[in-house]
Amino acid sequence: MQRGINTRGVHGGEKVEPITKALKTPIYASNTFSYPNMEKFFEAASNAYGINPEEITYFYSRTANPTSTALELKLATIIGCKGTLATSSGMAAITFIILANYKSGTKILASDSVYRSTNQFTTETLPKMGIACDYLDFRDLGALEKQLNKDTYSVVHFESPANPTMRCYDIKAICDLVHEYNSETKVTFDNTFASPVCQRPLELGVDFEVHSSSKFINGHGDALGGVIACNDTEILSEFRRQFGETLGQTPSPLNSYLILRGLKTLGLRVNQQSKNALKIAKYLEEHQKVNRVYYPGLSSHPQYEVARKQMNPFGGMLSFELENAEKVRDFLADRLRIILLAMDLGDIQSLIEWPYIMTHYDLEYNLKITTGITESLLRLSVGIEDVEDLISDFEQGLKHI
Ligand SMILES: *Cc1c(COP(=O)(O)O)cnc(C)c1O
Repeated sequence: MQRGINTRGVHGGEKVEPITKALKTPIYASNTFSYPNMEKFFEAASNAYGINPEEITYFYSRTANPTSTALELKLATIIGCKGTLATSSGMAAITFIILANYKSGTKILASDSVYRSTNQFTTETLPKMGIACDYLDFRDLGALEKQLNKDTYSVVHFESPANPTMRCYDIKAICDLVHEYNSETKVTFDNTFASPVCQRPLELGVDFEVHSSSKFINGHGDALGGVIACNDTEILSEFRRQFGETLGQTPSPLNSYLILRGLKTLGLRVNQQSKNALKIAKYLEEHQKVNRVYYPGLSSHPQYEVARKQMNPFGGMLSFELENAEKVRDFLADRLRIILLAMDLGDIQSLIEWPYIMTHYDLEYNLKITTGITESLLRLSVGIEDVEDLISDFEQGLKHI
């Protein structure tokens, strides 16, 4: 039987350090490693791309580092997969996995509603390399089927719930469809918004699950990181050699240590954040100055049935609309006392932002409209504070607008 998320968070991937008996994983702040002779060097170099600690030896920290290996193992335990690669940021994980799976002569297919920098990568960076990307509203499975019929795609990339509209997509149905059309096509999925606590996309057919560890996984907003997770350790090891080492997206041992530490409370945090988010979503839904609330755990959410199939609990992210942009500006004008105006998410402290003006300011206007990023939409990342305090912060903030 698989152990619970909190047990895996506390114990996964870490052992008492064999020489000093230290209980916690040390920060191995060393670029390189030394050997008594050439035989030992060759042994180390030939096992440098392993995924599991038993099969890995170290020779240079851009390729692998023991603190990061402990993090990779804890992440694999928590995500429930055979192996992971830790990266220096979420964007490092996303760009890495798309490039690693891309095959020349094919195209990339992406959901029209993805993280802003992911969209920037596929619309600006990839075309410069001659790599074309098509975009689609993944809610429409019929349209997806038509598109898969039209072209050959080596990578299909999406996320659910999507940022910042909380649109949800049927992960299993999409994976089945993609693999039915072409068993070679790899589905890469950004699970940052849900976190491994709420959603297990690898079990639904995704080939590679990625996260920004800067968000819920670390949870304390003090270290950037990312992770690539999958069930094929051979391909992961090959990717480490061919892409990790050459793209140099490796995390620093200090960041790996911080994320390793943050991960121990992932279950506690996300369960609390989900409870808080549901209460706040219900409160906002009843509030007369709030036009709409988008939270996958509300029965009013347009994809509630899809969300219910693949999420439990429903996570710490929600968005909502006020009457118009003027009201939003007024609401954000120094009215909130606990909830801070900032662009991050997944932190233990509650953060609010205005996607139209902040995170998505330079997104093409038409794309803003089709993906539901209206002028009056606000995104809230719910923290672990006492929910009564968060609700009273909203109460006093909304009173005067
Ligand atoms: C933050 C975020 C990223 C990028 O992660 P970084 O660690 O900031 O590079 C990617 N996807 C989603 C959904 C995110 O929220």
